[in-house]
Amino acid sequence: MSADVLSDDFKSRLHLTTKTVGQERIRRALENNEDVAILSMFLPNATAERENKKFCCVMKDQCLLGDPKKTIAGTKKMEYKTRQWHEKCFCCVVCKKAIGTKSFIPREQEIYCTGCYENKFSTRCVKCNKIITQDGVTYKHEPWHRECFTCTHCNNSLAGERFTSRDEKPYCSECFGELFAKRCTACSKPITGIGGTRFISFEDRHWHNNCFQCAYCKVSLVGKGFITVEQDVICPECAKQKIV
Ligand SMILES: [Zn+2]
Ligand SMILES: [Zn+2]
Ligand SMILES: [Zn+2]
Ligand SMILES: [Zn+2]
Ligand SMILES: [Zn+2]
Ligand SMILES: [Zn+2]
Repeated sequence: MSADVLSDDFKSRLHLTTKTVGQERIRRALENNEDVAILSMFLPNATAERENKKFCCVMKDQCLLGDPKKTIAGTKKMEYKTRQWHEKCFCCVVCKKAIGTKSFIPREQEIYCTGCYENKFSTRCVKCNKIITQDGVTYKHEPWHRECFTCTHCNNSLAGERFTSRDEKPYCSECFGELFAKRCTACSKPITGIGGTRFISFEDRHWHNNCFQCAYCKVSLVGKGFITVEQDVICPECAKQKIV
């Protein structure tokens, strides 16, 4: 029986790097060479003829404007890396809401709003099923909120505590002792292995080191010869006197 260790090296599977759009943000982003989407407006053909001709909404035949080549002056377009959308077509792949000037997260070829991305990709606690954003722990390779990781029996938090598991379930040392440990023949309190408690076993009986003493003179029998008489253990001296 050994104490279990709660792993602290929890790493969220959610790596949220949001990309933000918006004029002021774009200006700063371009200056700093950041990874952002750029929202701009179609200009009248004469001014931006070449640019407008190149435009093709990524949504293709699912373009919400009905034509991926539409470049009506005054409407907005979104550019992200090499791809372009009509502003209206730049939507979260899950909830289909337009991203507008909100943050989004690109993943492979898809665009997610932050809420949907969190729902889909973040780590959830095996106990409460809510997202773990920080302060998670893993136990048997499964993620838990620190506060959700509690003793199976008394429900006290085990974070930072020593605990022992049985049948894949964690128990605080007290409960484990009460529920599963061997009991001392003399004092009938549990003998837990936690904290390196030493104990004596003889046949199918067990004693705390301190409790292993002669039934008559109470001398410690640890490391000494002893004699058992029915339920008692007694030292050789007392045994001699009893027999005589
Ligand atoms: Zn479109
Ligand atoms: Zn969404
Ligand atoms: Zn939880
Ligand atoms: Zn407990
Ligand atoms: Zn005892
Ligand atoms: Zn004795």
